[in-house]
Amino acid sequence: MDNGPDVIFVIVYMPYNDNSVDYFDEFEVVVGSMQRLVDKYIGCKFVFGGDRNISKTSNNRTANTLDGFCRGNCFTWLDHVPNGTYTFHDDVSNKFSMIDYFVCSSDLTASSVGINILNDGDNNSDHLAIVCQFTVKDILSADKCDSFRPVKLLCDKADLDVYQSLLSQSLSQIALPADALLCTLQNCQQHTVELEHYYCDIVHCLHISSQYVPRVKAGFHKHWWHPDLDDLKQKCIDITTLWSSVGRPHSGLINDERLKCKYRYKQTIKAAMQESDKAFNDDLCDHLCQKDDVSF
Ligand SMILES: [Zn+2]
Repeated sequence: MDNGPDVIFVIVYMPYNDNSVDYFDEFEVVVGSMQRLVDKYIGCKFVFGGDRNISKTSNNRTANTLDGFCRGNCFTWLDHVPNGTYTFHDDVSNKFSMIDYFVCSSDLTASSVGINILNDGDNNSDHLAIVCQFTVKDILSADKCDSFRPVKLLCDKADLDVYQSLLSQSLSQIALPADALLCTLQNCQQHTVELEHYYCDIVHCLHISSQYVPRVKAGFHKHWWHPDLDDLKQKCIDITTLWSSVGRPHSGLINDERLKCKYRYKQTIKAAMQESDKAFNDDLCDHLCQKDDVSF
């Protein structure tokens, strides 16, 4: 869009729950791919539409995972307007379910906006079409979601001695629930509550101590970025400033140099992204080959 962020539309097909042991892993892989897109195009607005294969009202691990993805990125999982009770129908087995949704950047819709289900007579699919109205007028100004964006801790820039001493000091205040740890009763309710408190206490200590670790908003540093790119970026900025100061010519030495600089910068970014993907895939392959679950 002119003067604003791009809006990216993504069609997603989430795995079907066949009750296999791999189902949840497959579901998480799809959510991971969605997150990767969001991280890669940070600052853009998103609309993810398609077959979720779960209902928004399900209270299970997959629905919670998708819900967490929405909350972490300031996305809204839109509801359907009450003009239908299903989006999928299997007329042979008489199954009907509401599994097709839009998830979008929260500032693309008002909270009252819902998904309309279209009962088109010429639709031969077992899924009904869905439609929703998105508005972009407000997002050209301030980024309302900015304060919700998750942060990334820069552990390599932290004073680890200070961090370690603060953390061990606060951890030492927590009483070890020895009885709960030694309890052998199955599903012991009393100790489950105690262990939950113990876990929350540890998380609280980690959270308090992390206040002393420098942080940036997630996406501020691209994971594939390296210092050479800083130099090239600066060169591009400098040559563009010079080119602007001489009236933005479409030919001549300065324009040639500007285009060369831009091309080199783009190529290096592309190579860095490919290198990072390759390193990630190689590591993954190595770990899978060695079946090194701990390191993985
Ligand atoms: Zn117990």
